[in-house]
Amino acid sequence: MDRMATNIAGIDLGTAFSALAVLNAIGRPQIVPNADGERLTPSAIYFDQDLIRVGTEALNCRYVNPDRCVRWVKRHIGDTTFRKQIDGMIWTAEALSALILKKLKQDAEAQVGPIRQAVITVPAHFDEIRRRATMDAGAAAGLEVIGIVNEPVAAALFYMASCPVTGKVLVYDLGGGTFDVTILQVDGHDMQIICSNGDQQLGGVDFDLQVFRLMEQAYQQATGTALIASQEDRARYEDEAEDIKKTLSRRQTVKKILYGPGGPVRFELSREEFEHAIAKFVAKTEMLIEVALDEAGLRPDDIGQVLLVGGSSRIPVITQTLQKLFGFTPACAVNVDEAVALGAAVHAGLTVLKQSPDLVPAGIAAGLRDIRYTDVCNHSYGTLCAPVDKKTGKRTIANHIIIRKNTPLPCEQTRTFYTLYDGQSHIEVTITQGEDTDPRYVNKIATYRFELPPGRPAGMPVRVTYSYDLNQRMHCRFEDVQSGKVLEVDLPTDGSCMPQQAKPNGQDRLIQSV
Ligand code: ADP
Ligand code: MG
Repeated sequence: MDRMATNIAGIDLGTAFSALAVLNAIGRPQIVPNADGERLTPSAIYFDQDLIRVGTEALNCRYVNPDRCVRWVKRHIGDTTFRKQIDGMIWTAEALSALILKKLKQDAEAQVGPIRQAVITVPAHFDEIRRRATMDAGAAAGLEVIGIVNEPVAAALFYMASCPVTGKVLVYDLGGGTFDVTILQVDGHDMQIICSNGDQQLGGVDFDLQVFRLMEQAYQQATGTALIASQEDRARYEDEAEDIKKTLSRRQTVKKILYGPGGPVRFELSREEFEHAIAKFVAKTEMLIEVALDEAGLRPDDIGQVLLVGGSSRIPVITQTLQKLFGFTPACAVNVDEAVALGAAVHAGLTVLKQSPDLVPAGIAAGLRDIRYTDVCNHSYGTLCAPVDKKTGKRTIANHIIIRKNTPLPCEQTRTFYTLYDGQSHIEVTITQGEDTDPRYVNKIATYRFELPPGRPAGMPVRVTYSYDLNQRMHCRFEDVQSGKVLEVDLPTDGSCMPQQAKPNGQDRLIQSV
């Protein structure tokens, strides 16, 4: 692999596996294997007495003491209440993620030279808090995070760069812990995201658990004793379950001997039984596809191509389900586990090219020249206000959406609101994330007090502008029109942007413009 002065990297920080890719001299993304020679690094950490092990080593060590191993960190990122205590040290999900990122960075640097600037990927449904937490993890690992990109976007970007795809395209990403479905409009190398949907608690680990339970049941039935006697057994049979699941993607049946406390027992599982056990999860992904199609105002017939992403998309019933739904076989089944990291490297190259073209070597710039795409806002963002209810004539607190979900990025929207009563000396501004008008069903991601000049009558206009950039970061501007006073907000990184309760009376709020 070529050694460059400094590399532009794309990192897939996955729930189950992570990967790092860099752009080669002609702007093509390449996976950089880790120090163990693996292209994918398990997102696992083991706290040994004197050192921290990351990756396959950590998974292997967990047989010795599962309590010292941490996995599935991504499910907790951005959750300020999550803590892992080991040897008196307290670890947050961001600090744990930083350990994984540091291993990827250091291992890659040993082969291709320094890596500073990187794009990290997140599921499309990550909110602001989790995007910010992912960036913080990158910074803690010594990376300059130049962008956060949605995983299906990165994957599609990679497919676009390597094979001809055109028309309306659906990306089906089923990984270890998350599922994402994204619909894109593709014209040559131009692509626009129409909409995105998913479930952050649905992935390969749920399938492993089904197999694990079938093993437990079979053992109990055969011997009258439980298969699992210790945490160590659990770790071992979790891996067995994953192994059986993967084998069933290639074979019709799998046979294993279960060595439990009641003696050895022969266990057999067919692909059909496995498919039956995971049917409800597969149905859920189908349902989410239908919701995405609905949101995009499309029918299955309108989709010209389906791209498979994520290790779990190798399960044959997934392809069959998609084939039934769309009437054709999903296309371009390249290395489904690597597409996200490879696309992230392309995204990183495009970002540097846009921000500081002089830093991009000519060969890389030429390789990236034709790729352009448009992303969309993944949530609706709004503010709380106090409109008059037409039926009751009373004021109620309502969520007023300012930027709608699926608006192409970058975007900016302005709305004018009015103060509620004479002498109102401040307003409480709340930034919300969610689709509902009822404030109980939206996330309150930040609340600020905006001081106003005293002694004015009710009905003074306040202009609210939300803008959203290509890295899915939001900026909010509140302007008191008469005095010109402005409150500008880049969503904060500390706990103050955690969801907060709305005040019930609404006296401090703005009245909605008509
Ligand atoms: P993530 O992005 O969530 O980290 P990946 O896309 O790397 O995850 O997918 C990891 C998941 O894919 C794991 O649950 C793994 O067991 C599963 N997987 C990998 N290969 C296969 C296979 N051949 N058949 C079924 N599942 C597989
Ligand atoms: Mg993934």
